[in-house]
Amino acid sequence: MRLSTFLTAVVAGTAVSVALPQSSDVSSDSSRLLPGFPGFNFPKPLVSSIVLRNLITRRDLSSKAQTLQRFADASPGRNRVFGSPGHNATVNWLYDELVKLDAYDVYLQPFTETYAENSAKVTVDAVDQGAGPFTYAPGGQVTEQLVQVANVGCAASDFPAAVSGKIALISRGTCPFASKVGLAGAAGARAALIYNNADGALSGTLGGTSTPEGPYVPVASLDKARGDALVARLAAGETVTAALDIVGITEDRETYNVIAQTRTGDPNEVYFVGSHTDSVIAGPGINDNGSGTISLLTIAQKLKNFRTNKAIRFGFWSAEEFGLLGAEHYVRTLSTEERNKIRVYGNFDMVASPNYVYGVYDGSGRAFNITGPAGSTEGQDLLQNYFRSQRLNTVPSGFDGRSDYGPFLEANIACLGLFTGAEELKTEEEARLFGGQAGVALDANYHKAGDDINNLNYDAFLANAKAIAHTIATYGRGFQSLPPKEQAVPQPQLRVANAQHAHKGSIKRCGETLLEA
Ligand SMILES: [Zn+2]
Repeated sequence: MRLSTFLTAVVAGTAVSVALPQSSDVSSDSSRLLPGFPGFNFPKPLVSSIVLRNLITRRDLSSKAQTLQRFADASPGRNRVFGSPGHNATVNWLYDELVKLDAYDVYLQPFTETYAENSAKVTVDAVDQGAGPFTYAPGGQVTEQLVQVANVGCAASDFPAAVSGKIALISRGTCPFASKVGLAGAAGARAALIYNNADGALSGTLGGTSTPEGPYVPVASLDKARGDALVARLAAGETVTAALDIVGITEDRETYNVIAQTRTGDPNEVYFVGSHTDSVIAGPGINDNGSGTISLLTIAQKLKNFRTNKAIRFGFWSAEEFGLLGAEHYVRTLSTEERNKIRVYGNFDMVASPNYVYGVYDGSGRAFNITGPAGSTEGQDLLQNYFRSQRLNTVPSGFDGRSDYGPFLEANIACLGLFTGAEELKTEEEARLFGGQAGVALDANYHKAGDDINNLNYDAFLANAKAIAHTIATYGRGFQSLPPKEQAVPQPQLRVANAQHAHKGSIKRCGETLLEA
């Protein structure tokens, strides 16, 4: 049923409903008035999945995608990285749009985080070495001889005296990159080159602006083949000179989460939905995560026409791409009492990938053996059953905490979510289930300049926006489908810069940073 039909039906019954005393769950505050009838105290209809879903159109999504693209295009780096003009415009737009609805309590939550932007160019004998940068590395231009560091450069004794004033050539492995760079600085090296110990390129982060081992020096990474070639030349007694040109910007930036909660529904029992508002430096981030942001804003615009039994809270997180910083700040600063009001958290990060799958977070652990707090299984089932009802296939998606639900999981709050895929290649089986191209990345533009308005799949975008709306309508009516809630952890051990999820290999997922060898 379309809402216009629904409203007509309600209005036709006005003479009766106005005369009736208000039921206890319908207050007389103006937020519950039907739009267009000021002064008449009609209760809004209780949210219904099909009515809410039918209000969401492709145009709702595409017009907002154009808005975000415009914000990115007007920003110097053509991106929406946190604290940039493109990102600040996104945050302001979300806040203004939500306030305008006059149906939510909306606020900006400020926090300050370190922003870092790095690039590296390394040449040897005028040949470009295809070097990669390390986040938080200082900038500088250094042309000097290379000196091989013993072992993997994790102990001061690995650094020969000859490294002083020169460029330390260090193998990846065993200890954090930060330790190697700090030890190189302590040994008097002017710069460092860290080469991969596995095939392929290497990029990572120093994890912060300082380390106890010593002062940072400019540093870049090399792939294994180039690193091995330089090691062989030094071992043969050759003198090898490298030229490093490292850009390193590190600054504190104030940024904002946008939080909005329905004025209807029990505020002590909250369904919380969230998505991040920032992009990476490389591009405008229209799928990652314009798509989740747009889905939630569109639903908020439609949901204002309804009342709910349970409160719905929207969280638009900043600085996800720098390590889930906005969501982490939010959860960390919430009291235990407030954490316990969150019945379940839904995370929507990348829902319109061009070569998509319909991925549903595996909160049950049935596929990936990581089981979420009580309610996570039921959240997964709610979404899988919904897609089945729409005759759409789904695949379980890893429940590893590598997006903004990580801090909620660590606070022992049930989580659910959707993900249409990033750089991983589509399998034959997935091509059979979803169409698209096997052997091609689910989002070939993931974390690249091409993650723009031209690389969204609108079938997936619309289907996922409606699936999210289904969870909001279902939980907005009640939590009957969920088991008893577990208590939130009073002092969750929140990760620092996502450190505990650092892993071997150079493939990174959204929000993940490679800290260690
Ligand atoms: Zn993302």
